Amino acid sequence: MVKTKYIFVTGGVTSSLGKGIISASLAKLLQARGYKVTIQKLDPYINIDPGTMNPYEHGECYVTEDGAETDLDLGHYERFLNVPTSKNNNVTTGKIYQTVINKERRGDYLGKTVQIIPHITDEIKRRIKLLGSKNKFDVVITEIGGTVGDIESLPYIEAVRQLKWEMQSDCLVIHLTLVPYLPASGELKTKPTQHSVKMLLENGVQPDVLVLRTQRTLTIDVRKKVALFCNVEISSVIESIDVASIYEVPLLMKKEKLDATVLTKLGLALNNEPDLKQWTLFLNKLKNPKKQVKIGLIGKYVELVDAYKSINEAFAHAGAVNECKVDLRLINSETINEDSAGEILKELKGILVAPGFGHRGFEGKVTAIRYARKMNIPFFGSCLGMQCAVVEFGRDVLNLQGAGSTEMDHSSQHPVIDIMEEQKGVLEKGGTMRLGAYPCKLKKDTKAMAAYGKTLITERHRHRFEFNNSYLEQYEKAGMIATGINPDSQLIEIMEIPSLKWFVGVQFHPEFKSTVMSPHPLFVSFVKAAAE
Ligand code: GLN
Repeated sequence: MVKTKYIFVTGGVTSSLGKGIISASLAKLLQARGYKVTIQKLDPYINIDPGTMNPYEHGECYVTEDGAETDLDLGHYERFLNVPTSKNNNVTTGKIYQTVINKERRGDYLGKTVQIIPHITDEIKRRIKLLGSKNKFDVVITEIGGTVGDIESLPYIEAVRQLKWEMQSDCLVIHLTLVPYLPASGELKTKPTQHSVKMLLENGVQPDVLVLRTQRTLTIDVRKKVALFCNVEISSVIESIDVASIYEVPLLMKKEKLDATVLTKLGLALNNEPDLKQWTLFLNKLKNPKKQVKIGLIGKYVELVDAYKSINEAFAHAGAVNECKVDLRLINSETINEDSAGEILKELKGILVAPGFGHRGFEGKVTAIRYARKMNIPFFGSCLGMQCAVVEFGRDVLNLQGAGSTEMDHSSQHPVIDIMEEQKGVLEKGGTMRLGAYPCKLKKDTKAMAAYGKTLITERHRHRFEFNNSYLEQYEKAGMIATGINPDSQLIEIMEIPSLKWFVGVQFHPEFKSTVMSPHPLFVSFVKAAAE
């Protein structure tokens, strides 16, 4: 029986330094040495989960197999490790407080004053140890969201301090900071790192390893200086230099011996060198494409790279399989109408219509699909993208005047997309959609079946509306076919137009299941069709 070891990853100086990618890269290296690893994200906001936030606030909302709406970093964890995460991998301040307050109301603390220390910190510690409790993992990596010094992060840092004291050499802290380069003096500056470590020390936490994000190579003098001022060994000062692709980071961390340093400190055997053969193969294909294809991503959050994170990454995986660089163009659906569509979309070899909510940008998505269908350009619709394709076909091919989705138009004359039966009585917004993995049966001789190569699949969902089955016969007669159906509920999961080159809309989110080691078959097939 192994004793689970715990690694905490904190961040200083600024947000967006890439704690998630460093955590995922370290996890990848440990996994490649034969260890079982999982990664958890602690988010210091009061929402129970990011499901109620819009992408401007929080980027993409990632959905796990078990139906949790989570931080997009969990997507990176899955893409790197190829192991599903669960609702226990993302904890928020909202969840912590909700649990503690519910216990208080039940009388669990009867007679006591309920306080941040110990009650909130105990609940944080419980959630951290929960992942290690079933003996499933050798190492649990816990990424603490936010930046040290934030008021919101304090209880988390305190929990880390306590765990470090309790677990001693069974845990360690990695602190990620920034070493900026000042062109005026031509120097890398370590002061922000020193201050950030000082802040951690004020909270009682001595980091064991420092990962320094930098634009330029760290000189030995910079490393020495940081080691001296921050009480860490020089071998524990790790450089994390900017790179073109996040998928290079595991290799960089290997070069910097982050994995070996961590294992030694935790008293774990180094085993063999990490086996990164497949990973390197993927990276080589990613970096040396033989061709290029321009694909449009039609959505409404075009100014925000994080809004469609998983779609972006799924294209990277699928591009590599096809040895083809996907030149992904984000296009604001609000700019697309009958007059502008031709001009805006003319250079695209494939069109993907993104998931989404609400009526802003909806008509533009429908118009983009009309263009794709009429010009026979490969089309891929994810969730709302599929619903738009159904609306478009209803209006233009079936001549259903005013065909629409009741999400956008309550009184639609032809509600070809309608609220799901089970959703009709739902009033609360948080965590109440149809969420997580459901099975889907595929029909033979379809694009879907050809891509997956099997008849029963499961995919992840996040929606309240669905194809209205009372229109199915009309659709199929006119050439839009339901090729994937949920075997239990008969909900339509995939719609295709077989007479076209590649036209597939899916009610689920294929992007959430694409990983480096198993690129999503529909993305692979779509990129192939677009590149042909
Ligand atoms: N808004 C649509 C629904 O709720 C689609 C959701 C999505 O694209 N995730 O059904």
